[in-house]
Amino acid sequence: MREYEKSHKLDHVCYDIRGPIMDEAQKMIRGGEDILKLNIGNPAYFGFRCPDHIVDHMARCLPDTEGYSDSKGKVSAREAIVKYCAEKGIPNVDIDDVYTGNGVSELITLSMQGLLNDGDEVLLPSPDYPLWTASVTLAGGKAVHYVCDEESSWFPDIEDIRKKVTEKTKGIVVINPNNPTGALYPREVLEQIVEIAREHELILFADEIYDRLVLDGKEHIALASLAPDLMTVSLNGISKSHLAAGYRCGWMCLAGNKTHCKGYIEGLNLLSAMRLCSNVPAQSIIAPALESRADTEALLQPGGRIYEQRNCVHKLLNDIPGLSAVKPEAAFYIFPKMDVKKFNIVDDELFALDLLKQAKILITHGAGFHWGKPDHFRVVYLPDESMLTTACERMGRFFSRYHQSA
Ligand code: PLP
Repeated sequence: MREYEKSHKLDHVCYDIRGPIMDEAQKMIRGGEDILKLNIGNPAYFGFRCPDHIVDHMARCLPDTEGYSDSKGKVSAREAIVKYCAEKGIPNVDIDDVYTGNGVSELITLSMQGLLNDGDEVLLPSPDYPLWTASVTLAGGKAVHYVCDEESSWFPDIEDIRKKVTEKTKGIVVINPNNPTGALYPREVLEQIVEIAREHELILFADEIYDRLVLDGKEHIALASLAPDLMTVSLNGISKSHLAAGYRCGWMCLAGNKTHCKGYIEGLNLLSAMRLCSNVPAQSIIAPALESRADTEALLQPGGRIYEQRNCVHKLLNDIPGLSAVKPEAAFYIFPKMDVKKFNIVDDELFALDLLKQAKILITHGAGFHWGKPDHFRVVYLPDESMLTTACERMGRFFSRYHQSA
């Protein structure tokens, strides 16, 4: 039989922790071990529920959502998204500029497929949400990572972005709020990124799926709102804000000045039409979801689960000798640093495997997010406080004796 192998294009792409860590975790789970999973950004897994009225709304719409919709999505959904864009100051978005998708994931891939020719470059954050690197690579492009700086609250290093722009650069991706760091970028930082895009006529890509999960009363600033003279592709969805990851419901809006992007937009329209349309029942809940955000907001206030779990995990991780973590301001991720000298860590995948085998905790190591040093890992703090406390106690015991040996 002919052998089919992984495309060589994917050689430099990390994707989460599939591979040896996941294989080991599955083996342990099958053997009856109790693994604490701090690796999945799926709220439903940790007892969060999409608000009942949204589920009921989708159920009521099911009989009317059996057919394909317009390839970009139902008018009612796209009108609600246009209204949301206006509220966020995202300029020049009308109904034809909105594409619904089976989650933001589908649209990330589509936006890169439509943009890139072989060898084109896209600037992406490191650490990144790895689907971006995978999508750039699969589309034939080259992912060029700019550093986000832990010393500056994980904000993008502007000089590093500037240094990495070349003749081949097509766009800059900004993930704000950020997965895996939980950082929320201030206006000044975003303005400087916009300025670089302006100087080099680059397209901005704003992955803002966590924009409704901001803590401490802070404000999220939409990147497109600062760049009316440039084209921004803004991506968003309800997987996280409405705890509805399984419904596969996201959207992408083309904002700002599109005059120089006609060919790209034609390509996007074609790719959108090729997949016929996104899941239509999921589109039916976009309008009610964007109208009702009180349930999510309650989770972010003192007493709310996300707020309290953030405080709990931030304190407990920082109490472990050899670990330090910047306090996240949004989303539900924290990206602690390990003292690699103290623990003799040279391989973070091996560290993740050791943590799994010895402490029965599943995390994602930094390299899974295209982070270049073996000194970080991501914790998802969706589990409740009691599980987070147990996990941090186990981690504390693990680190008190850990000395990596190859
Ligand atoms: N973008 C970021 C930054 C994410 O963290 C995720 C999911 O974790 C996605 C996009 C994809 O979300 P979905 O496809 O569920 O809309």
